[in-house]
Amino acid sequence: MRRLGKNDMIGRISGVFCVLILIWTGCAALQTPPPKRRTLSGQAPRMYTRPQFKPKISPEAYHFESPHYILDYSKDISKLPNYDTVEERKSRGSGDLIFLEGQYDFFKELFGFTAKGMILIEVEPVLKFQEDIGEEAIPNSRDALTSIQRGSHVVDGRVQPKYTIKMRFGIDAFESKATRAHELTHAFTSVYSLPAWMDEGIAVLVEEEYGGGRGWAQQKTDLKPIKVDEDGRNILQTWRGDNSELPFRSVELYAYSYRILKELQLRYGMDLLKRFFSILEQDGVYRRVQTLGTSVVVYYLSQAAQRDLVPFFEGLSFKVRKLSRDDILGILAD
Ligand SMILES: [Zn+2]
Repeated sequence: MRRLGKNDMIGRISGVFCVLILIWTGCAALQTPPPKRRTLSGQAPRMYTRPQFKPKISPEAYHFESPHYILDYSKDISKLPNYDTVEERKSRGSGDLIFLEGQYDFFKELFGFTAKGMILIEVEPVLKFQEDIGEEAIPNSRDALTSIQRGSHVVDGRVQPKYTIKMRFGIDAFESKATRAHELTHAFTSVYSLPAWMDEGIAVLVEEEYGGGRGWAQQKTDLKPIKVDEDGRNILQTWRGDNSELPFRSVELYAYSYRILKELQLRYGMDLLKRFFSILEQDGVYRRVQTLGTSVVVYYLSQAAQRDLVPFFEGLSFKVRKLSRDDILGILAD
């Protein structure tokens, strides 16, 4: 059995803090339909409020601004029937931003924090990928992709992190409330350098429980590994990691990630994630790595649950070590 190395425990440490780090979170049109479903907790999806504000709109209505978003339609959106006049684009863009601001307020309450910067939204008829996310990146209208650039700037003589958050949508993805909820979750949470299983698990949980999800996420009904690797490790643990051969996108992996987080939420309370992010924020270790190791994530989840969750994850065949806060802060201080 391979022993866990330091980087397995803590995550990949970025070379220089000020280097620009790109966090990709790609999201397929994972749309398989089952229309009616109950959430795992049996609760009805909640509604967002409609905040009152007047968005700024460019004369041709391709560019919109609201308190937390900048929305840009690509010029070729005018080829689509519902976007071919200025009045239509004005009406749709304003309506979209009102919805998105309501969703923003809701997420703020759900997670206990705000997004770490303005959110730039680009909408085009067909999403043309500008980045390499593998052969699955075939341009289509149902895809969306959220990316976060982490850089730095100087404020009052001190270097501070600066984030550029961008959500890109094909038109069908943008018109799907569930996909918007999924991507907006990434816009809020991907700055925390979470491993893929947790990053996607949270996005699917929000999409499914609060975004009018489409039911496919509930296809994984148990916690058993889909497969273990040659070291006996649950393959989900290293999804999108250096040596992972798993597809970038797979309904099964998204559903399983959601299932694990939902189980923790059912056992330790609906506020578990809120508590997790609050504790993670206090220590700030996420700013110093590209991806947090699962043992670190399990430490913070354990703090939030007030229960040692190493046995829970070992039961899922994750390879994790029980770490203390001193372990984490000490290693990252090297
Ligand atoms: Zn995603």
